[in-house]
Amino acid sequence: MQEYPVIDAHLHTFHTPEAGRQAMSNTPSKPDISGTIEDAVAALKASDVAGALMVNTIPLAYMWDAAVAKLSPNLTPSQREDAEHEIQHRLLARLERRNQWTCAMAQEHPNFYATITLDPIMSPDAMRQEIRDKVTSHDARAIKLHPPIGRFFPNHQSLWPIYETAQTLDVPIVFHVGAHPHPDNPELPVEYSKPEHFEDVATAFPKLRLVLAHMGVGPAEWYPHLFQPYYNAALALARRHPHLCFDVSAAVGAEWPQDKLLAMIRKIGAERVLFGSDFPWWDPRIAQRGLEQLGLSAEEKRFILYENAQRMFEL
Ligand SMILES: [Zn+2]
Repeated sequence: MQEYPVIDAHLHTFHTPEAGRQAMSNTPSKPDISGTIEDAVAALKASDVAGALMVNTIPLAYMWDAAVAKLSPNLTPSQREDAEHEIQHRLLARLERRNQWTCAMAQEHPNFYATITLDPIMSPDAMRQEIRDKVTSHDARAIKLHPPIGRFFPNHQSLWPIYETAQTLDVPIVFHVGAHPHPDNPELPVEYSKPEHFEDVATAFPKLRLVLAHMGVGPAEWYPHLFQPYYNAALALARRHPHLCFDVSAAVGAEWPQDKLLAMIRKIGAERVLFGSDFPWWDPRIAQRGLEQLGLSAEEKRFILYENAQRMFEL
């Protein structure tokens, strides 16, 4: 047993088993669980992990495609514009409900903490309003952005209002970084969250607290040929921007060469690395065991397993 509460800073939950299975259908790893809140509670109970940050997302870009594909081809341009407006409205309401749900789950389960997700289809005002509302009135601790799921580049100007507001309110952003299977076609990689794309954001927002997930590289098994170039790029990024933090989810206790993970943690510094599992794709207990076996000092483990998350998300 640890003398401090271990925090999993990267765990996904889904409001229904169907939503969880859908999210896992396009990834090579398909665990036997669906990632509901009950599954997440059980996974934490079976481990020494005391608390978790829910980094929930919603695939709005794909919902948009599905909704637009259903529109009649016989619409006039102005009818089409109205119909697309209506779709946008509907999707934004879904995103808001998703965030509301995550915040409600955190209320119900005091050892779970909420993040909210945002999407470039939102207007700048809607982005600012959603961040202010969920952070000030619903206890959201951070923002989660997933470029491959949202099909956006993190350095696109449409996201600037998010970064400005987050920097002003001092709210951290957790980014999916690195390789991710193409949701349309698992054979294709997506380039949206290549480590290099975070350079502009880190430069333009030197006070914005950013956590680059998966050590900025992504899971090693999905695209083995991307591992080394992404690894080098993530390290270069970490060197140039000392304010960037990283999480070990999908890397620790996973297919990553664990000696390379240890070397990367030491180069970046344990005070900039957070523990995470990427549940339900990976299990918190296995991830924690993996971390214990890396060969880190007691002080380094304390930073990674607890202190960095505690400070970052004000737990
Ligand atoms: Zn994740």
